[in-house]
Amino acid sequence: MNESQWIWKDGDLVAWKDATTHVLSHTLHYGNSVFEGVRAYPTKRGLAIFRLEAHTKRLLDSAKIVAIDCPFGYEELCKAQIDILRANAFSGKESVYLRPLIYLGYGSMGIAHWNAPVHTIVACWEWGNYLGEESLSKGIKVKTSSFRRNSANSSLSKAKVAANYLNSQMARYEAHKCGFQECLLLDENGMVAEGSGECVFIVKDKTLITPPWDNTLKSITQESVIALARIEGIEVVQRHITRDEVYSADEAFFVGTAAEIVPINELDFRKIGESKPLTHFLQEKFFSMVRGEDERFCDYLTYIKE
Ligand code: PMP
Repeated sequence: MNESQWIWKDGDLVAWKDATTHVLSHTLHYGNSVFEGVRAYPTKRGLAIFRLEAHTKRLLDSAKIVAIDCPFGYEELCKAQIDILRANAFSGKESVYLRPLIYLGYGSMGIAHWNAPVHTIVACWEWGNYLGEESLSKGIKVKTSSFRRNSANSSLSKAKVAANYLNSQMARYEAHKCGFQECLLLDENGMVAEGSGECVFIVKDKTLITPPWDNTLKSITQESVIALARIEGIEVVQRHITRDEVYSADEAFFVGTAAEIVPINELDFRKIGESKPLTHFLQEKFFSMVRGEDERFCDYLTYIKE
């Protein structure tokens, strides 16, 4: 991985190699930690964090949902993300991925988590597209997972909590072993939920359709793409989708902070669309938006230069 120099930890800057934790840290054993994935993009005015406010609010919501009392408030966490970007040196060519994480450290064992000390870190490093730069133009092959997206009542799917990612990990592993680049998880009712780390859209008769947030993470990229499409006069409907609707869609794509906007070429060996005009149009507009070239979305960016 692309190491950077500093990691923000509990209010201080710590050298990357020294940002370690004890093997008996509570989170390592029981999976309760909450995190975010945020991107800062190079713009004409230097690096700018995309949707810092929304990500920081979701981080604190996640902590509240899983009953972790974060010692840092909203303003401090926003500042920590800006400070760590300022502290590190980046090439300015690639986007930088930020990983804020609130976790339970060393000091108590057993399932009861409320006596474990809470730690907060923000790491960041240059990281290109999660599914590979080529996926943006070439698209990917996807398999419907044999795993169901964990339901809201069994595992608090609105929280971006480490424990939920066992589901994502196993689904992704299965898809990888079967020769696919990503999987599509259905919910307990058999409706399309999301990818292992992305939300999904289909296009049918020039309308964008994306599932509601019943059992999925409330994706910030999905919300931004909906706003972008609407402002461009594209009709967007948020409703349940069945798997066969994806098979017969005109276009389909995944969205997420790490994956950005990735065309889906095939689901379960059914080819989806040919030229994908709407997907490529939204990709282009999305990259203008995150790189500060679209004045209509200037509120989405936090420039980090003093
Ligand atoms: N679903 C899951 C399970 C994810 O991990 C992610 C990535 N955070 C997303 C959807 C997309 O969310 P966002 O657009 O906020 O990154």
